[in-house]
Amino acid sequence: MKTDHAYRPDCLFCKITRGEIPSSVLLETDDAVAFLDIHPVNKGHALLVPKTHHANLLELDGAHAAHLASLLPRLCRAIQAATGAEGFNVIVNNGRAAGQTVDHGHWHIIPRWSDDPVNWPWPHAEYLGDELEQMRVRIERELKSG
Ligand code: 5GP
Ligand code: ZN
Repeated sequence: MKTDHAYRPDCLFCKITRGEIPSSVLLETDDAVAFLDIHPVNKGHALLVPKTHHANLLELDGAHAAHLASLLPRLCRAIQAATGAEGFNVIVNNGRAAGQTVDHGHWHIIPRWSDDPVNWPWPHAEYLGDELEQMRVRIERELKSG
């Protein structure tokens, strides 16, 4: 896949995707690797990453995003079958405020059980007055300009 995003020698996941740091690889294509998270939320927790360096989802072009997404159903089916999980979460943390700690974008696949200790749902907020419509308009405006 054509890309301007180079390998970063100081990046942990660039090193992992190139095999310079060992990892438990589950799946590999020319453009992506999936491997087990070393500190799993639940056992079987995997990370799906592009081979080229993208700091987060904002830097990922449509072709790379589509390739990663195309691998998800098979990977998730395998994780769910192998772990016996009742379900799974696919989560992408972007930015420190959202919990991102490794600045090479990655998609978490986390197997889930109804009695596991993971807290979901997160707390929910309420829109007041016309806040919901204002929010829709702001995002729509950004989509049109972007
Ligand atoms: P983030 O918090 O950035 O969304 O997720 C980073 C993930 O990378 C964490 O879940 C963490 O456990 C995992 N991780 C950090 N260092 C390593 C490593 O050296 N090898 C593997 N396999 N996973 C790692
Ligand atoms: Zn990287």
